[in-house]
Amino acid sequence: MNTAEGPLVIVGAGLAGLRVAEAARAAGFANRILLVSDEPHAPYDRPPLSKAVLLAEGHEREIALAPGDSLAESQIELHTGRAVTAIDRTAHRVILAGGEALSYGTLVLATGSRVRTLPSLPPGAPGVHYLRSLDDALALRRDLAAASRVAIVGGGIIGLEIAAASSSGRQVTVIEPQPRVMARATAPAVSDYFERRHREAGVTFLFGATIADAARNEAGWTLRLSQGPDLIADIVVVGVGVLPNTELAAAAGLEVAPGGIVVDAHGRTGDPHIFAAGEVALHVNTRHGRHERQETWAHAAAHGAHVGRSLLAPDEGYAETASYWTDQYDINLQAWGTPIGETDIVRGDPAGGKFLVFHIVGGAIAGVSAVNAVRDLRTAKKLLGHPPPPDLANPAVPLKAPG
Ligand SMILES: Cc1cc2nc3c(=O)[nH]c(=O)nc-3n(C[C@H](O)[C@H](O)[C@H](O)COP(=O)(O)OP(=O)(O)OC[C@H]3O[C@@H](n4cnc5c(N)ncnc54)[C@H](O)[C@@H]3O)c2cc1C
Repeated sequence: MNTAEGPLVIVGAGLAGLRVAEAARAAGFANRILLVSDEPHAPYDRPPLSKAVLLAEGHEREIALAPGDSLAESQIELHTGRAVTAIDRTAHRVILAGGEALSYGTLVLATGSRVRTLPSLPPGAPGVHYLRSLDDALALRRDLAAASRVAIVGGGIIGLEIAAASSSGRQVTVIEPQPRVMARATAPAVSDYFERRHREAGVTFLFGATIADAARNEAGWTLRLSQGPDLIADIVVVGVGVLPNTELAAAAGLEVAPGGIVVDAHGRTGDPHIFAAGEVALHVNTRHGRHERQETWAHAAAHGAHVGRSLLAPDEGYAETASYWTDQYDINLQAWGTPIGETDIVRGDPAGGKFLVFHIVGGAIAGVSAVNAVRDLRTAKKLLGHPPPPDLANPAVPLKAPG
């Protein structure tokens, strides 16, 4: 197959789709590149949506991923407000809502994820918010301005970022079924630190609870919980995870698992003309030798760029180390590698607001989380794959990269 023949059509103009386009062009792809998005906006960055954009007006103007004329300069044709509704694999065309068709030589699906919703709190109901897109963030910011009681369903990263951005002057309650915050994403020592800082900011946590029912009247929303008294709120923000947008691929007969569109270490599906990139891709990482899906900015950027390059010149395969960050109040957490160990070694005193946690798996350091310690992270990363040195927990003994 020659992927340089015919136009490259990319479905989804998020971070991954954009990086596919840019990398393919940079690698010498000479044909047309069409970037098709069902959103009305040019590509923008999502992380600020749960942080700066919620805090103050104006930040939404600083989140463009391809500012100025950069797309035009790379001859990347952007089509916004155009949902792709079907793939015709035989004719090598995608069909857009409205019926128009676009021909492709190579098709990349970079359709990302959508929020998981709760039936008792439907998206679009007054005072109910989910957060994935810029429009979601602007609607939430508008409603927050008039709200004094905010219920957040889900104590994961997005829920906590929203709690941090909305806690000033409001009564914020986080409802979380697990016994700790960010339980899926980080180790208990890091969760404990974040929970404490949120409590200091006045946030209330209801752990071990889920939503049994929800009803709205003129006083706001009444949430009946699986345990404990009802909770009354002016607005309810739901952050209970995401689902990959795999329907297009599935309807076209491509292999799809509950975790995403199945691709190899180069982003290839079973159809030699169709690839998938970013958060929607259940991809192979050659470091781990298994299929996985990641919901992080760094992965969407790296995987998009890797797939874009692979269209022209496949290398040995995708091999990025997983990483993510979150910002809440003045706390910055950067996680590198496996974010939860069989055991975890804390270096530094969390009470001082700056510490590292090394995650140990099978006797070796498999990951590290740095809380307000990004400079130490540089050396700490080099310890990955090595057994923990004896003085690792003692911050008085300098961290040394293995000889
Ligand atoms: C509020 C928020 C905050 C975040 N904060 C952080 C953070 O602090 N740190 C971190 O590491 N990660 C963070 N992330 C995660 C990170 O932003 C995502 O993993 C990344 O944006 C995924 O990029 P993507 O391009 O794969 O998918 P997406 O960004 O989901 O883009 C996919 C695009 O495809 C479009 N699309 C879908 N189907 C179709 C179709 N049929 N036709 C046309 N277009 C279609 C979608 O509308 C969307 O625009 C955050 C995410 C969110 C939502």
